Amino acid sequence: MSAFTYFISDLHLCAERPDISQCLFTFLQEQAVHAEALYVLGDLFEAWIGDDDLSEFNLSIADAFKTLADSGVKIYFIHGNRDFLVRNQFAQRAGFTLLPEQIVVDLYGTPTLLMHGDELCTRDVVYQKFRRKARGWWWPRLVLALPLSTRRKIAASGRKTSKKNHAKLTMDIMDVTPEDVIKAMQAHKVTRLIHGHTHRPAIHPLNINGQAAERIVLGDWYDQGSILKVSKEKRELINYKFHPLA
Ligand code: MN
Repeated sequence: MSAFTYFISDLHLCAERPDISQCLFTFLQEQAVHAEALYVLGDLFEAWIGDDDLSEFNLSIADAFKTLADSGVKIYFIHGNRDFLVRNQFAQRAGFTLLPEQIVVDLYGTPTLLMHGDELCTRDVVYQKFRRKARGWWWPRLVLALPLSTRRKIAASGRKTSKKNHAKLTMDIMDVTPEDVIKAMQAHKVTRLIHGHTHRPAIHPLNINGQAAERIVLGDWYDQGSILKVSKEKRELINYKFHPLA
């Protein structure tokens, strides 16, 4: 069997959705263990308020990834717009290597640009303004300096509002700006881009200055598990059904 690598993103894990984490555990134990590497391209968690939030749920997720890492599978993590406060402490616990927000990796001979993808949704001007602040140096420091109990309260009130708007929010996630996709790919001199965030899984063929290229979008885990498998020969978007919980 030839070597392959898995990509996942947008699981939006939270204690209230054990069906999602159960599907992840099954994937890690039964599928990911056969891979060379697993890339998590952001929004693994619905929310992340700091590595000091050692809830039973968060620890169970860390343990599941660490077991995989200890079995020899490399695990890489790129922050999403919901878990951009993940830091080294949690990464170490989970066996993740933290990557910068955009990186080019050699994927079986094809240089491939990886990112969460929210930076490509440039038509959402309000969000992009927040993003610059949230990914800057002072805002995260300020937030992480608050007591954990305060951060919990802020997150809980945020969840209430977002629950009300959930269906709407999911529909409203803006798609990427096509020109900015091309710009990013040209800046990094790649013909392949893999990202998540938009919850619009697809393999889009592109043409960049007469050269064939492609943009692969990972799926979210709201109704099913969604995985990208890449080998030298092919790339497949695979869905996993959630199993009924015992
Ligand atoms: Mn996202």
